[in-house]
Amino acid sequence: MKDSDIAVSQIALMKQKLHSARTALEEFNKDRNDKLKTLIQFIGQLSLACKGQNLELDNKLAKLRHNLHDFDQIDEALPELVDIERLLKGQYNQTMAKLEESRTGLSKVIRQIQRVNSAPDKVKKEVNYFKQELSKPFHTVWEYIPKVEKLIGFYEDILQLQFNNPDDIDILPQHIQLARELAVKISEIEFRKDQRDQVLVMKEVLLGDITLSTLLESYQTIISLLLDNIAREKSASQDFLYALNDALTVVRDVVNNSHNSNERSAQLKQQLNNEINLRVDNAGGLITDIEDIADLKTQLTVQLSSLRDALSRKEALEQREQAILRNSINAMRKELNSITQEANSFKEKLFEHQKLNLLDPLTQLANRTALEDRMDQEYRNHIRFKTPLWIAVTDIDHFKMVNDNFGHSTGDKTLQVIAMALKNSLRESEFVARYGGEEFVLLLPDITEENISILLNRVREKIKNIPFKFKNQKITVTLSIGAAQVMENETIEEAFERADAALYKAKNNGRDRVVIDI
Ligand code: GH3
Ligand code: MG
Ligand code: MG
Repeated sequence: MKDSDIAVSQIALMKQKLHSARTALEEFNKDRNDKLKTLIQFIGQLSLACKGQNLELDNKLAKLRHNLHDFDQIDEALPELVDIERLLKGQYNQTMAKLEESRTGLSKVIRQIQRVNSAPDKVKKEVNYFKQELSKPFHTVWEYIPKVEKLIGFYEDILQLQFNNPDDIDILPQHIQLARELAVKISEIEFRKDQRDQVLVMKEVLLGDITLSTLLESYQTIISLLLDNIAREKSASQDFLYALNDALTVVRDVVNNSHNSNERSAQLKQQLNNEINLRVDNAGGLITDIEDIADLKTQLTVQLSSLRDALSRKEALEQREQAILRNSINAMRKELNSITQEANSFKEKLFEHQKLNLLDPLTQLANRTALEDRMDQEYRNHIRFKTPLWIAVTDIDHFKMVNDNFGHSTGDKTLQVIAMALKNSLRESEFVARYGGEEFVLLLPDITEENISILLNRVREKIKNIPFKFKNQKITVTLSIGAAQVMENETIEEAFERADAALYKAKNNGRDRVVIDI
């Protein structure tokens, strides 16, 4: 074979190789472009997923998506990529910082939940695990969301428990104070007999370990008991007035009826009297006028029979009258009896109420209202007869300690004993009232300035010597007393103020003493 032939065949071979190499390159390019397009599409989709985190990034990505849309302009998109990359990095750092911040926030909330004592043990345990989980950093936002959901779950559990069991709401000192005050208040109110047991039980509850719901229930019960009493009072007075009205109507009818029947009877009687008189006159006339004795006899018999008839009608009339009168009297008596009974029971109630309104239910001493009445009365006597009048205010020393150490009901009993002793240490003309709490007021007329101190110190000593014994412990209860005499041109209220100020001095000077304001 010639050299030229060899060269030709080699060139042909090389051409063929070149052709197949070009074809391969074209295929490779096509494949690469296809992949690139898929990648660009993917970047477009990915950029959409990043949307909404940062406005600048959003704008850049939108522009990028636009440029990538036209494959031929892809070169223009390239410089933007640098900016986008910078923004993406910044965004990533920011997100991570925020996630860290959120993690710290969650840890704080968890610490708060751990402080809720009333949380159930199960929740407390879970909260502890959760706290450990929170010690590891979050890598994505998706880790954060379930944590928040879990936290909400804890809150829900705790709230649910509190709603289901309101007794677990913490009792604060002011709730206890409210309960004690309510207990004192209900001792001062007079309840009906059938309500008293319920009130006593309530008082015990209020003085014991209360819960918020028992406190609320007690308020509710007291209010309904009081409303019930008011309604009863109202309807009792109404019933009495209705009964009185009915009785008066009956009496008026009876009086009207008897008046009418009296009038009718009087008319009938008059007629009968006329008839009888006529018959008697006729009989008299017959005796003088008629000469024939037989005729006279017949005529007289007729007249006498008419006379007898008229007389028996008159008797019947009188009997009927009497019967009507008797019935009327009976009806009136019946009404009168029933109304008297009604009035008596009403009077009794009224009296009891008046008495109760003036008596302190715990100590049975006069209460503040009664004291005011008596102050008026004593003051009038003092002005009129120019007799001296003293007013003394006394307060038990450290009484709170009795309650605190031995309980409220021991405190109540102590108050009763002291009240009785105070009352017994006074004369008939002297007066003592429970002014409130553990304070009493004495009105002492007709005592000279020399004697007042002796009298009050005697009272003070008497109380001090009462041998109280609580829980096997001997206790001395003392009083501080302040007193003042009503001076000329002074109101009794002004004297009271001075006595109260003197009591204040007695307390400040060490208690268990009498201070007289002169
Ligand atoms: P001081 O010597 O300063 O008077 O001290 P105190 O503790 O007596 O005075 P304070 O005013 O601090 O307390 C009075 C107490 O009397 C508080 C209150 O609970 C109690 N108290 C008031 N009324 C009643 C009651 O009806 N029954 C009982 N058991 N305690 C009462
Ligand atoms: Mg006191
Ligand atoms: Mg006091």
